[in-house]
Amino acid sequence: MRRTEADRCPGVLAVHEAADGGLARVRIPGGVLTVEQLDVLRLAASDLGDGRLELTSRGNVQVRGLTADGPRELSQRLYETGLLPSITHERVRNILASPLSGLDNQSAYDVMPLVSAVDRALCSRPGLAELPGRFLFALDDGRGDLSGVQADVLVRAVDEREALLSLGALGVRVSWAEVPEVMVAAAEAFLAERDGQEWRIAELDDGEHRILHRLGLRTTDELPTATSTITAGQHGAAMVVTVPLGSLGPEQAAVVADVAEEIRITPWRSLVLVNGADQRARLDEVGLVTKPDSPWNGVTACAGQPGCAKALADVRAEAWRVTPRLPRHGRPMHWSGCERRCGKPAGEFVDVLALGNGYSIDGERM
Ligand code: SF4
Repeated sequence: MRRTEADRCPGVLAVHEAADGGLARVRIPGGVLTVEQLDVLRLAASDLGDGRLELTSRGNVQVRGLTADGPRELSQRLYETGLLPSITHERVRNILASPLSGLDNQSAYDVMPLVSAVDRALCSRPGLAELPGRFLFALDDGRGDLSGVQADVLVRAVDEREALLSLGALGVRVSWAEVPEVMVAAAEAFLAERDGQEWRIAELDDGEHRILHRLGLRTTDELPTATSTITAGQHGAAMVVTVPLGSLGPEQAAVVADVAEEIRITPWRSLVLVNGADQRARLDEVGLVTKPDSPWNGVTACAGQPGCAKALADVRAEAWRVTPRLPRHGRPMHWSGCERRCGKPAGEFVDVLALGNGYSIDGERM
């Protein structure tokens, strides 16, 4: 696959100039934030941006509406709180982990402690600063919740001793001790195999076989097909809350920081509040969703107007107005301001599209 456009994936140091000001994307490996880090992000969004924290489908956070001086001040604050440990590798630290890993009884192996080992291995290889900003690593604790995120390099727990390293549908058994090194070795092999144009392993002709061959690994297993999803509500020691449209307001962020001991951002734009039990009333009061049957679960939207110059409508305002009344039939729902459908979920979804003079749902005019 040959590309004509450059990789413009935003970061903190390379901010995207959106229609509503600078947009910075803060990589958060494993989606894990301390209470102090969430407070720093909340204050930075209020002082330097539009006040809200946008959750992304890779468990990262975006700050929008930055003024001209905003990025410099933001990067300084993030550096001081440990959210910008590498200048060279900041855009490539895309590492997902099963958000409930170690918190309920569903983990074949707790992968959360491995996140920082993979992050360190990634940042210690100078050549991996060249990875495209879209390249994705994922650590699944065995429950299959990350099987749909389309990671380039996925590790899925088998048991306490072994994991499956998976590139596409090809799986290789590895010991847990080997996992961080073999994940970054796969990324290095991708860079060696590509011709400079591809951003993802799936874009490389026969990429999975070529990378395994380069690593001297032979396929041993097929990837298990079992998957699972995480719903809002109590899960063991954690409370999962949906953040409507993935947009966390300052008051909501302050309450989350007050009730949780640690926060994990999920790829489904919800938050896992570690030890955040028995606080439903406070969370409900600020508009966070604590119930699995809420119409806001699984609803996402792109930036739309006024943030995106390509948008044909303010899709977020419209989504707020009508989402609870729209039929879903068990599928997630995504609102898009134009046909690019940025941020759409993987798999089947209800496709709500701005037309400029109204909306269509799954291709039918509303
Ligand atoms: S889908 Fe279109 S309108 Fe929405 S953010 Fe992407 S480019 Fe902008």
